Amino acid sequence: MKTTYPDEKKIPLRTFYPNLKNFQLKIFIFKTLKKLHAPCNNNVFKLVIKLKFMKKIFLGPPGSGKGTYSRRISPIRNVPYISTGDLFRENIKNSTLIGKKAKEFMNKGELVPDEVVIEMLKQRVAQNDCQNGFILDGFPRTIPQAEILDNLSDINAVINLIIPEDILIEKICARRICKNCGDIYNIANINREGIRMPPMDPKQDGKCDKCEGELIQRDDDNEDTVKERLKIYKKETEPLIDFYNRKGLIKDVKITGPPEEMIPIILKILEEIEINNN
Ligand SMILES: [Zn+2]
Repeated sequence: MKTTYPDEKKIPLRTFYPNLKNFQLKIFIFKTLKKLHAPCNNNVFKLVIKLKFMKKIFLGPPGSGKGTYSRRISPIRNVPYISTGDLFRENIKNSTLIGKKAKEFMNKGELVPDEVVIEMLKQRVAQNDCQNGFILDGFPRTIPQAEILDNLSDINAVINLIIPEDILIEKICARRICKNCGDIYNIANINREGIRMPPMDPKQDGKCDKCEGELIQRDDDNEDTVKERLKIYKKETEPLIDFYNRKGLIKDVKITGPPEEMIPIILKILEEIEINNN
């Protein structure tokens, strides 16, 4: 059967790959079709579009912007954003079986065990909207969690956000979070060490842009707690960089500017990974 290039104007790939040159798009489509041993028809186009969605993890120390980046990139790439924090809140709010279980541990002041977190995640990624991929924020945090995740789903890329510690601390202490929807803002104005981060102020003082909820400073967003969290991150989470590096999945991203500047850079990296993987 003869394989021809599909007419790329008929499919919305361009929407998702705004940075790609025409020949790169053609190679991508051609490689995918070849892999599928498939002729060109509408179903194949749909499959090609599906394949380009991938499962990604955002890694990085507390305050590096994982939440901000994954939240903002998820609608651009049309894949759901999943944070374990949100999963907890949702399950507890809806009094699901697993939510009740999690609450038992939290009420006792204990950490929610991996099995419970994994179960929540498993239920979440089984939902329809995750079929084309997802972006994970705040998970995995440890090697054992990463090993369990390996059995649950193929991760295609791990974006590792890099930022100096003193800037992290200043940023975290200036963080404001919407009490209602969890949207994140920042009132710090940073311009040193080659890093320029103007504040991410809400449009109205103290109010969330999305839902007008009250913006608060979390109790644990202070210097002592941040240093303690960084210590834990180094001990428990940093080994994940090695873990995923061995799998060839790590992409380092040095944070040098505000999200508006960094997001196009991250999107470009994601596109390159996807093209190479297909
Ligand atoms: Zn809000």
